[in-house]
Amino acid sequence: MAYSYLPVGCDGSLYDDIATPVANKVFFAGEATSRAFPQTVSGAYTSGLREACRILDLEEEAQQTVLDERPTDLDTSAVNMEI
Ligand SMILES: Cc1cc2nc3c(=O)[nH]c(=O)nc-3n(C[C@H](O)[C@H](O)[C@H](O)COP(=O)(O)OP(=O)(O)OC[C@H]3O[C@@H](n4cnc5c(N)ncnc54)[C@H](O)[C@@H]3O)c2cc1C
Repeated sequence: MAYSYLPVGCDGSLYDDIATPVANKVFFAGEATSRAFPQTVSGAYTSGLREACRILDLEEEAQQTVLDERPTDLDTSAVNMEI
């Protein structure tokens, strides 16, 4: 259990920097990533929700891409219609 603090002269954008995912593969939560509620359990908790939602959104996007790239018509040329 700990909490972050900003050095004198820094602004809140540092929290956003720390919260930035790496290559959409590594995600960061914790009060130190919460610009709205730094130094608090609320910040830790809500940042976890934020990252969970981010991951779900990415997963949804990936699934949509797979659906969009599906062939729309069956390729009937390969089907032998002779009876
Ligand atoms: C004395 C004190 C009183 C507080 N009172 C309040 C209060 O009244 N209300 C409030 O909202 N907040 C309070 N806080 C702040 C609150 O505790 C923190 O904001 C909150 O715990 C942060 O949660 P976190 O998950 O971001 O980080 P943490 O709870 O600090 O969790 C980080 C975890 O990562 C682990 N870790 C660190 N480095 C590594 C590593 N290299 N590898 C693996 N694990 C690692 C640590 O062991 C720790 O378990 C208080 C904090 C302190 C210190």
